Amino acid sequence: MRHMKFEQSPFLHVISVDDEYIALYNSLNLEVAFLKKDFIKQYQQEQVFISSDATSERILEQLEGLGLLIKERADGYELYREYQKALDEPAINILYLLLSDACNIRCRYCYFLAPMPHGYQSSLMKKETAIKALDLFTHCVKRSITKGHPEQHIVIYGGEPTLNKEVLLEVLQYIDRLKAKKLLPGKLPITVNTNGILLDKEILTQCKATEVVVAISVDGPKEIHDQMRVYSSGKGTFDEVMRSYRLAQQMGVKTGICVTIDRHNLFRMKEIVRWLADELGAKGMGFNILIENEVDPIVSGEKTQYGEIVAQKLIESFKMARAAGIYEDRMMRRVKNFLDKTPVLSDCGGCGLQIVVSPDGKIGVCQAFCGRKEFFVTEPLETFEPESHPFWKQWRKRSPLANKVCRSCVALGNCGGGCPYNAYRTKGTIYALDERFCVHAKATTHFLIRDLWEKQKERQTANK
Ligand code: SF4
Ligand code: SF4
Repeated sequence: MRHMKFEQSPFLHVISVDDEYIALYNSLNLEVAFLKKDFIKQYQQEQVFISSDATSERILEQLEGLGLLIKERADGYELYREYQKALDEPAINILYLLLSDACNIRCRYCYFLAPMPHGYQSSLMKKETAIKALDLFTHCVKRSITKGHPEQHIVIYGGEPTLNKEVLLEVLQYIDRLKAKKLLPGKLPITVNTNGILLDKEILTQCKATEVVVAISVDGPKEIHDQMRVYSSGKGTFDEVMRSYRLAQQMGVKTGICVTIDRHNLFRMKEIVRWLADELGAKGMGFNILIENEVDPIVSGEKTQYGEIVAQKLIESFKMARAAGIYEDRMMRRVKNFLDKTPVLSDCGGCGLQIVVSPDGKIGVCQAFCGRKEFFVTEPLETFEPESHPFWKQWRKRSPLANKVCRSCVALGNCGGGCPYNAYRTKGTIYALDERFCVHAKATTHFLIRDLWEKQKERQTANK
């Protein structure tokens, strides 16, 4: 009997899933196999797995097929290098169009207005600028499709975009014309991110006609929402937001709900999910993890603690949303990557995948830098090619797949690296870790593996 020898992949993690079983998990190709705990004792001698009979040979070969084990002295980094190559080239798939950098309310945790320099003059985007920005995006999309990127997205954003109603309506009609002329893909999703207060029948009619998703920020029932989402007077905005949300629902407009997680709702997330399902009939929602705000640092300044609590609460809330038939975007993206076995190179569009156009026509990488215009350029919208600009190239490299520290991390392939702006704010460089997010990403990875195991066990029991 010959003894076949295998080594473990450099990306292998062994995770206990219950008293009897372990998961062998490859953090890069996201393959997983569940085996009895004595497997390791039986076949592993130091770093090498050795077959002892035909059955063990078959099992070890299957594990090699999944990339969990590699042939003795094989390299094991081929796929890693391939993904790293993809980070050489930015490909612009997302447009953030900032129709206004002013806002009609003053959310206490706002990451956008808080860092604005003293005396900053906000403005509304002119129609001509918006048209040029959309034309620029059509060129980017064409190049990106040629490079094999099939999915694009336009986000109409602010400040508060509905403050610029006239241009908002023009923009939606113009996007429709670009789609009709096949200059943009017909199915390209468009989202208007709004606090909801100024939505009216005219805007909503246009949103419905152009199949736009209106994403409204609601942090929970009135007494929760009104703690943070307030006018400058301090009065809560809940009643006006609900009026608009109900109107959008009555008119059959596609809506989504954004819930920003901070101290006011962190410990009530399960209750909020139930409320969204029962009271608002919500079908889709997304939890926003708080972005650093220099005026009012996160939850008593306890950043790691915030990360741990958010991670745990997000998982609990996701399970509840799943049971209630609500699509929770943040976790579902991770579930999708995990099940499709497609590693996510970056979680943030700013990492070489998006352009942000500010109301004054400057082109940037990330909307959070709009106030200071860091990582923004003043270039003609007609001719600019972001893919070859150093900012977009630098940000494209901001990925766990390009960070040595991340190589041995269990979350490597389904993390995406969180928010570079948070890293920059806290550590002075976009390449640093967004540590709060790391806690969340690792907890999510463990949850996905254990959840898969639970589902597998349920199926096995049902088939008996
Ligand atoms: S760095 Fe990325 S995730 Fe963070 S605020 Fe900017 S676009 Fe959003
Ligand atoms: S969780 Fe943190 S350390 Fe791990 S891969 Fe993601 S960014 Fe890197």
